[in-house]
Amino acid sequence: MKGLVFRGDRRCELIERDAPEPGFGEVRVRIRASGVCGSDLSVYRAPFINDEIKGHEPSGEVEKVGPGVRHLAVGDRVGIHHHIGCGVCLWCVRGETVACAEDRCIGMAVPGSFGEYVVAPERNCVKLPERVSFVDGAFMACVGTTAFAALRRLGAMPHETLAVFGLGPVGLSCVILGKALGLRVIGMDVASHRLELALRCGAREAVDGREDVVAALQRFGDPGRNDHLRGVDYLIETSGSAPARRLMLPGIRRGGKIAILGVGSDEEVLNPSHIHGKAATIVGSVVFPIGWMWDLAKMLEVSGTSFEPAVTHRFTLDDGAEAIRVADAAEGGKVVIEG
Ligand SMILES: [Zn+2]
Ligand SMILES: [Zn+2]
Repeated sequence: MKGLVFRGDRRCELIERDAPEPGFGEVRVRIRASGVCGSDLSVYRAPFINDEIKGHEPSGEVEKVGPGVRHLAVGDRVGIHHHIGCGVCLWCVRGETVACAEDRCIGMAVPGSFGEYVVAPERNCVKLPERVSFVDGAFMACVGTTAFAALRRLGAMPHETLAVFGLGPVGLSCVILGKALGLRVIGMDVASHRLELALRCGAREAVDGREDVVAALQRFGDPGRNDHLRGVDYLIETSGSAPARRLMLPGIRRGGKIAILGVGSDEEVLNPSHIHGKAATIVGSVVFPIGWMWDLAKMLEVSGTSFEPAVTHRFTLDDGAEAIRVADAAEGGKVVIEG
């Protein structure tokens, strides 16, 4: 099979390799769509890491089943959770394979989704309902369910307001799901093409991060005794930037909730007195239990929601190197490789 490996310092190469064989309880999936993710790009930019086929947002069709497989059959369409896990520890039983001591990840320890085939345990594979596309399956595998997990941890309700800081693929996924949940979504970024994308994905408003973001968010909410208690009900921070994070607390109303998804600056930006003053709730949200992919699949099916509006570039595996270059240049929204 063909697959894309990273050679370090932004070099990548399409190689030929034997397709992996499914072991006990595993299936082999013919990849139909894979997203290019921010975490792939940090590996792409780094000096050499390993020569495994990269990509961790796999979506495709079961092509071969190993012995002991009970729930999947050849032809099933699936999205695959990329953290494999041991399957039997406390964290794995909770579906939180990301926390398993056995740190094996598709695209790092075993061949990833920038190849023609991925082998994975069937417990990591989530069936795609008929109306959910392979591209949506790739979103479910990582960025889409990451966004879903943040909204779920916030407990957002319809009619409320949600600000999304950072409008890359994760932020755009938050916009799409927030809209689907009936929220009024306000996107914020410093790149104007991303603001346009957010509007295309269903944001009611797009706020330019170079302008007065706090003033834009404080137009919402009831002031109560103090004007500074105005703001949005929920805020999801995906940018990882310290200047954006400093605007989180001023941007929410009293009692508002913040979810932090963005990886980035280590700068300390939160003052506990301000958290207290706003009676704010702040949750960190990192990846998600496998079961939440099942829930998102159901939500996409029932609501007819799709992540496709966030996709701006589509490539085949033969043009995989170009796909990675485009994603690295961050000139668009989500980049997908289809096969
Ligand atoms: Zn990812
Ligand atoms: Zn485990």
